[in-house]
Amino acid sequence: MSIQYSVISSQIYILGPCSAESREQVLETARELSAFSCQFSVPFIFRAGVWKPRTRPETFQGVGEPALEWLQEVKRTYGVAVATEVATPEHVEAALKAGIDYLWIGARTSANPLAVQAIADSILDFRFKIFDLKGIFVKNPVNQDAELWLGNIARLEKAVYGVGCKVYAIHRGCGHQPCWSMAHKVRLARPDIPMLLDPSHMSGDANQVPELLKKVEELGLDGAMIEVHAHPEQALSDKAQQIRPKELGDLGSLGALGSLEDKELNWLRAEIDELDERLWDTIAARMDVSKRIGEWKKEHGVTPLQPERYQEIVERINELTNERGLSTDFALRIWEQIHEESLKQQK
Ligand code: PEP
Ligand code: MN
Repeated sequence: MSIQYSVISSQIYILGPCSAESREQVLETARELSAFSCQFSVPFIFRAGVWKPRTRPETFQGVGEPALEWLQEVKRTYGVAVATEVATPEHVEAALKAGIDYLWIGARTSANPLAVQAIADSILDFRFKIFDLKGIFVKNPVNQDAELWLGNIARLEKAVYGVGCKVYAIHRGCGHQPCWSMAHKVRLARPDIPMLLDPSHMSGDANQVPELLKKVEELGLDGAMIEVHAHPEQALSDKAQQIRPKELGDLGSLGALGSLEDKELNWLRAEIDELDERLWDTIAARMDVSKRIGEWKKEHGVTPLQPERYQEIVERINELTNERGLSTDFALRIWEQIHEESLKQQK
């Protein structure tokens, strides 16, 4: 059975490896992606990181400038636009001179407004000399800060004002978690800026990519950036999250056609799901501490239920709920249940 891809014509898909590792790896991945693109009529922008902002210095840091030639070769050979990450004005200069069509600003750089401003200034310096730049993708910062993300978008919009280069947002989550509440704020503040999803960095896990991609349609997003590698098991960075080009074929539909209206309820539900997850994380962490308290009490011959501690917690709940405008009665009912379970765990 053939799979029908239906991509909204304005949707953008950025596909390619985390890092450009070698000429062969870049061209092989681009060739397979190009075959996928023709088979399913899905246009794409080819991505590969050249300068990699890695956590540890002993890991692969990217090939640097020489890899830009491989991207040029992809552009010439397969006729696709190419994108790379920039973190400094020097990167911008090298990428623009190499005719890179799209730049993206990564989550780590996005956390530093001075770095983003330096990038914006260097684009401004170049914009009358280089007309090829088609767009800049701004990922959310690593920390959950919608204002900073919006500020970065504004810095870049100012730099490209008046030239035909668009600014886009990419929601890549914080760590390996989606952050729908932050993305929703940005979506509501700037509905005019296209927002893409990066399910690869959002999950850090290739197996979770198909499920997360469903959010493109559910939330009316404008496309996705997906890490794709011809041989993910050999990848020099982000090995666990990259999928094979042929696995794109198994995804069934990359953001199927659908009305972009009435997505608000889905956004709110995504926020609720995110908060529920945090709630259960907190409850699980609380139970864990509670068990450790139980062990300590056993060792020291202290009874599990201590009336003065009980009273202290009740008073604290009173304060915490008043500060937050929540009903204390309601909070105490929930807490009684949690406390009961904690005592069971301590037995
Ligand atoms: C990347 O896209 O390869 C990357 C480094 O992503 P992020 O900035 O989202 O971690
Ligand atoms: Mn990556």
